[in-house]
Amino acid sequence: MVVGDFVNEVDVLVVGAGPGGYVAAIRAAQLGKSVLCVDKDEVGGVCLNRGCIPSKALITAAHQYEAAKNSDVMGVIAESVKLDFAKVQEFKNNIIAKQTGGIRSLFKGNKVEFMKGEVFFIGENIVSVSNEDEGHRYKFNHCIIATGSRPIELKTFPFGRRIISSTEALSLTEVPKRLVVIGGGYIGIELGQTFAKFGSKVTVLEGSSSILPGFDADLTRLVTRNLKKYDVEVITDAMADKADQTDDEVTVTYTVNGEQKQVTADYVLVTVGRRPNTDNMGLDTIGIKMTERGLIEVDKQCRTNIPNIYAIGDIVAGPALAHKASYEGKVAAEVIAGLPSAVDYKVVPSVCFSDPEIASVGLSESEAKKQGKAIKVGKFMYGANGRAQTMNASDGFVKIVADKETDLVLGAHIVGAESSNLIAEMALAIEMGATLEDIALTIHAHPTLGEMTMEAAEVALGRPIHSL
Ligand SMILES: Cc1cc2nc3c(=O)[nH]c(=O)nc-3n(C[C@H](O)[C@H](O)[C@H](O)COP(=O)(O)OP(=O)(O)OC[C@H]3O[C@@H](n4cnc5c(N)ncnc54)[C@H](O)[C@@H]3O)c2cc1C
Repeated sequence: MVVGDFVNEVDVLVVGAGPGGYVAAIRAAQLGKSVLCVDKDEVGGVCLNRGCIPSKALITAAHQYEAAKNSDVMGVIAESVKLDFAKVQEFKNNIIAKQTGGIRSLFKGNKVEFMKGEVFFIGENIVSVSNEDEGHRYKFNHCIIATGSRPIELKTFPFGRRIISSTEALSLTEVPKRLVVIGGGYIGIELGQTFAKFGSKVTVLEGSSSILPGFDADLTRLVTRNLKKYDVEVITDAMADKADQTDDEVTVTYTVNGEQKQVTADYVLVTVGRRPNTDNMGLDTIGIKMTERGLIEVDKQCRTNIPNIYAIGDIVAGPALAHKASYEGKVAAEVIAGLPSAVDYKVVPSVCFSDPEIASVGLSESEAKKQGKAIKVGKFMYGANGRAQTMNASDGFVKIVADKETDLVLGAHIVGAESSNLIAEMALAIEMGATLEDIALTIHAHPTLGEMTMEAAEVALGRPIHSL
């Protein structure tokens, strides 16, 4: 690499090394392109460093802690179960280190060059990259922008001191005694429930009438019940107005049913959504088309209005999910390499790693009805599944939504243990155009949770064996 005013040239420049960018970079390199991936931070993006992976590490540790305390029902008496929160954080940090190391090895093995630095666009095929050393300029033939998103900051709840975002929540050095969560979306519920299991007294303030919008009410009901079990107070239709902080605590004033109330906690975690990182990088000066919300407009091939510049992940429309970003990354890289690739969003599973987990793919029952589709639904309860009982996890159900005429699977929705893994079979079923019969006739190993998808398909077909 040459520095200073000298301009370096690269075939594909990938901006951002999150699950969108690093996957795009590897795929482009596999297809024979010379690739430079630049990130101002560590490889892995939000997902690996302050999102999916660290949150799941904490969620699992909290689950283990809770399970150990309550395993006497199985005859396992774990006396004086203790929590070493510093060790929990160490467990999480080790995973991040291993995973980021893994991406660096993948880059090396695929001959992707990685550079730490902040990218700023100075033309349609040229950027400046600034880092601790100095500035560099790179000319590119193609560019894939994958700069992700950051937590939305509320004006009356500016981040700092006792008001934190998910990033700081994941790295707390001790379990807060009291935690207020503003926002009952999936990040707020996952983290709120986790800290409740670690021992925090958690209050969730949600502006709308229910938590976890986006999932049907029958799926979220079990989560709401479990939140109560962990003494999490969920206050819906509650607007958080302001915060008053001291060195040790913060008092949140909120309005519910026209009445102003207050709740005091050690920290306030604000999880009211994320905003795309499309500002402060010169995209406006080169004329990239954006929506009012700052999302970059792209076509089905992830191409922006500037033909050699692509955009993927959280900065384009659709759910802000890691697997959606990676999927788009592969499409963009393949299009650049001349392959006939394009996105198809029929199958984008979404999972909330609450307790119990909620997983969903394809059309929900309510969406299908709204679209005026004639459907049939098959529902099978975890309580009737042998494996679920042996896991002491008999709460939940698997629901399959299918076309009434053709039996084509349109959607699947699962709430219960391991639904995050079970949903993969249903995603494949929809992708492959499977019918209820295809699922019902597939031999599923016994005893497994996976049998429930077969059973739900049989219910929809009117011939269930293990339910009446
Ligand atoms: C707490 C939490 C939990 C989550 N859990 C899940 C989950 O369970 N499952 C799931 O699918 N999703 C989850 N997500 C969402 C997921 O993390 C994001 O959807 C995903 O990371 C988006 O990937 P991306 O590649 O678009 O961007 P990011 O992962 O945000 O990466 C963007 C990268 O671009 C870099 N960058 C930005 N601007 C510049 C610049 N100008 N120059 C150079 N580099 C730049 C950033 O440093 C960053 O590394 C979670 C998010 C959070 C916050």
